[in-house]
Amino acid sequence: MESTLTARDRVGVQDFVLLENYTSEAAFIENLRRRFGEKLIYTYIGSVLVSVNPYKDLEIYSKAHMERYRGVSFYEISPHIYAVSDNTYRAMRTERRDQCILISGESGAGKTEASKKILQYYATTCPVTDHMSTIRDRLLQSNPVLEAFGNAKTLRNDNSSRFGKYMDVQFDFRGAPIGGHILNYLLEKSRVVHQNHGERNFHIFYQLLEGGEQDQLSKLGLERNAQKYHYLVKGCCPRVSSINDKSDWKTVRKALTVIGFHEEEVEDLLNIIASVLHLGNTQFGEGEDGETQITTEPQLTYLSKLLGVDGPALREALTHKKLTAKGEEVSPLSFEQAVAARDALAKAVYGRAFTWLVAKINQSLAFKVSHTSIMIGSSSVIGLLDIYGFEVFQHNSFEQFCINYCNEKLQQLFIKLTLKSEQEEYEAEGITWEPVKYFDNKIICDLVEEKHKGFISILDEECLRPGEPSDISFLEKLEDTLGGHAHFVTHKLANGKTRKAVGREEFRLIHYAGEVNYTVNGELANQSVNSTAVICQSDNQILSQCFNREEVTTQKRPETAATQFKNSLAKLIEILMSKEPSYVRCIKPNDAKQSGRFDEALVRHQVKYLGLMENLRVRRAGFAYRRRYEAFLQRYKSLCPGTWPNWQGRLADGVATLVQHLGYKPEEYKLGKTKIFIRFPKTLFTTEDALEA
Ligand code: ATP
Ligand code: MG
Repeated sequence: MESTLTARDRVGVQDFVLLENYTSEAAFIENLRRRFGEKLIYTYIGSVLVSVNPYKDLEIYSKAHMERYRGVSFYEISPHIYAVSDNTYRAMRTERRDQCILISGESGAGKTEASKKILQYYATTCPVTDHMSTIRDRLLQSNPVLEAFGNAKTLRNDNSSRFGKYMDVQFDFRGAPIGGHILNYLLEKSRVVHQNHGERNFHIFYQLLEGGEQDQLSKLGLERNAQKYHYLVKGCCPRVSSINDKSDWKTVRKALTVIGFHEEEVEDLLNIIASVLHLGNTQFGEGEDGETQITTEPQLTYLSKLLGVDGPALREALTHKKLTAKGEEVSPLSFEQAVAARDALAKAVYGRAFTWLVAKINQSLAFKVSHTSIMIGSSSVIGLLDIYGFEVFQHNSFEQFCINYCNEKLQQLFIKLTLKSEQEEYEAEGITWEPVKYFDNKIICDLVEEKHKGFISILDEECLRPGEPSDISFLEKLEDTLGGHAHFVTHKLANGKTRKAVGREEFRLIHYAGEVNYTVNGELANQSVNSTAVICQSDNQILSQCFNREEVTTQKRPETAATQFKNSLAKLIEILMSKEPSYVRCIKPNDAKQSGRFDEALVRHQVKYLGLMENLRVRRAGFAYRRRYEAFLQRYKSLCPGTWPNWQGRLADGVATLVQHLGYKPEEYKLGKTKIFIRFPKTLFTTEDALEA
């Protein structure tokens, strides 16, 4: 806590609840700006940590820094990601309750860096024995591997995570890490075949080409030149100055070994990566009879070898469509259809290999009873959620829809848990609770997921309808069912006129964080989860595990991608609900990835999307500040002769004596069972100032 007025003016308050003018967004941003200017990137809203990306190494993450935060209470020391890490860890150990840390923010705001800092904190400060050091190393090494396959250079972040990640770290009764488990969400597969200008494909492709040994590349039929591969140059920037693909490859290769990948598995994995590149270079042309045919024979030969499938079968899969599930009847594909089939195959192969990779890492992180005599029942868990923030682009497609829906669900969870925990705390302390007004976004979650009449149900129904699902008919159905809903808008106005702000192929959702127009451009209709019969015959071990025959032969329609996502989100929410949450809200200070620049408009936008003002309002609704009796007494006892140097009686009586002496008015504070609650920040500032005097 800054203790003089001048210091407070210079560096702002370290906890927003202490802001005098707490409903003012301008005051909120000014506080962030001041602190950022002083290189103080962390600020609390109660127990929520707000973090502003400094875009430079602040040298605040050393082992000495970690030590400083060990076992120290939140309010006694300046805000830090280590304070959150440590507090969470101690809560897990002392209360034996599973914890989770939810990290949110937009692309480039620093979520992944924050989650890595937390993991490093545990890896460094937790007790470990020899065997556990293996698990610890594997936990740490899972990051470079997942980032290689799941991260890419985008316009907004040179190392952007293109998947959502939830990771459980399991600790034994001594507080040592003994295992882990990762859940992944919605990998951006479209990136495998297409990148916007200035963006790249997933790092692993460039790493392999730059860092792979020559004979390895020859075996894979690859050249050491990313320019040669169509799938790698759509964004015209195979090289990025901030990235060293060659040394990253070494890191990844080593990490795969630490995690316990066998050589054959690595080989199978590389075959898949190479086959995606060969697929990208597979071209089509017209045969003598006008039929579509493959014009790049060498690619086909490599593909057949790398994918471990029969050449003619692969040729047919790329140029013909199966009319029956068993594939007895086929019809030729048009040129465009063949290109689409090729791209779909590349996306499916890469996407499933990624899922396999996560499963493989999970096997290696799994807690093994044989390693230790500790019963599994006595372990506790800290979960880390690093998931995409709310996204609004010029054009928003199904991917943005899923991401924003996910954020609605997390906001809903936040509302439930924050309000619940505030309420619980007041109740536990025997303090009267005053309900707070807030926007409950359940209405938007229902709009998306309600049975029979929600967005996803309508989508499913449309996909199951015989014939080709059409974007227009889907939009019409949405209008019929959801038209008139307060959070759903199309171009049609009630008076028969047209709303200009929403296109004819668009619909608009009014999210808790703002309005977003989504385009229905075939992606929504293209919901069938890709299963390509030909790959089921693969003798690549990874592929044969990822694509099973049943999927192809069964007559049942597979779940749509939207339903799959909905179900996986429901599971995630269930996991998070069973744990005690902490929050890290990350903010990006500018769009130029530059240090020292604070773009107010950009920050304001994020403060809104992260719901920080509402968060503060909820937190301030009752009491701005609360502290356990012993901590309060310890800090201020010198201000009162009755409590100095040591209070011998009950702690509550000591605090009562102290605040009476300080002249606190009855409406300014309340005494609970274990804590004092102070309504206004000013009261506390005055006391702090008295300490300095
Ligand atoms: P995305 O949603 O795109 O994955 P993200 O929120 O995970 O974005 P990060 O990859 O964590 O963003 O951060 C982007 C970049 O910002 C990092 O590569 C790093 O250069 C810088 N950065 C983030 N946090 C910090 C920090 N605490 N200190 C220094 N630099 C940071
Ligand atoms: Mg990230």
